[in-house]
Amino acid sequence: MTTAARMPAAFIGHGSPMNTLELNRFTAAWRDLGAKLPRPRAVLSISAHWFIQSTAVTAMARPRVIHDFYGFPRELFEYDYPAPGAPDVAQEIVDVVKPAWVGLEHDSWGLDHGTWSVLAHVFPDASVPVLQLSLHSGAPFDYHFDLGRRLAPLRERGIFIVASGNVVHNLRRMNPALGDTAYDWGERFDAEVKSIMTSDPGRLPAVASHRDYALSVPTPEHFLPLVYLAGLCDAAGERARAFVEGGSMGSITMTGYLLGDIAVPRSRLQASGGEVPDPASVPPEQTNL
Ligand code: ZN
Repeated sequence: MTTAARMPAAFIGHGSPMNTLELNRFTAAWRDLGAKLPRPRAVLSISAHWFIQSTAVTAMARPRVIHDFYGFPRELFEYDYPAPGAPDVAQEIVDVVKPAWVGLEHDSWGLDHGTWSVLAHVFPDASVPVLQLSLHSGAPFDYHFDLGRRLAPLRERGIFIVASGNVVHNLRRMNPALGDTAYDWGERFDAEVKSIMTSDPGRLPAVASHRDYALSVPTPEHFLPLVYLAGLCDAAGERARAFVEGGSMGSITMTGYLLGDIAVPRSRLQASGGEVPDPASVPPEQTNL
């Protein structure tokens, strides 16, 4: 990678915290994304799960791992992601977004599961420094879009920006029996967002007027990380590409998006003893699709 190269950026639909421990077609794509990325200087994670009344960035040298959920197996509560922080990068972020304001957070937060459930697969050895940016709960879409634009210069400084949420996220309507599917309203909204992100990401804030918005985004925190990626796309004058898609438990979509010069990750699973062959290379009689 040359010094002029721009680090890609991504939005990842993180879904259930159990994805931390599971290898499925979503987490397989996240793993392949990590394998295809140049090694970043640091990761800036914009997680749905740090939704507070201001914008802040973690600035501690050793961020703690926060298990911000309940009712999951002990193995998940014992999961550790001991990535270092990067106080110097935190100060760079404060400077690069000016005159917008971002505060330095030294002790009340750390890395929540929106960050580590994803990075467990993207960078499994936890050796790349990680920072988190909070989502300002009182700010309109345009504020988040503008702040996303302001973060764009970080891509030239080796920072991998990963926004972690879900396009469609309605926990009250969730039904685990529905597996990897989404309700019609969720599929419609997810498709509309895809058409915007892959054609004109600058239009994303306007999707709040879509007829399925209220059911798909009953609260904004899981959608807002995508608004940051839309801002980054707009700053670069580029469109995003969807790299993994699908529903989960009816009322969640797992769609992930990429910005930048990187091959689209594959979501194929590892079989015991080797990789599952690419379906395109297998004769029809040997498939069971
Ligand atoms: Zn979440």
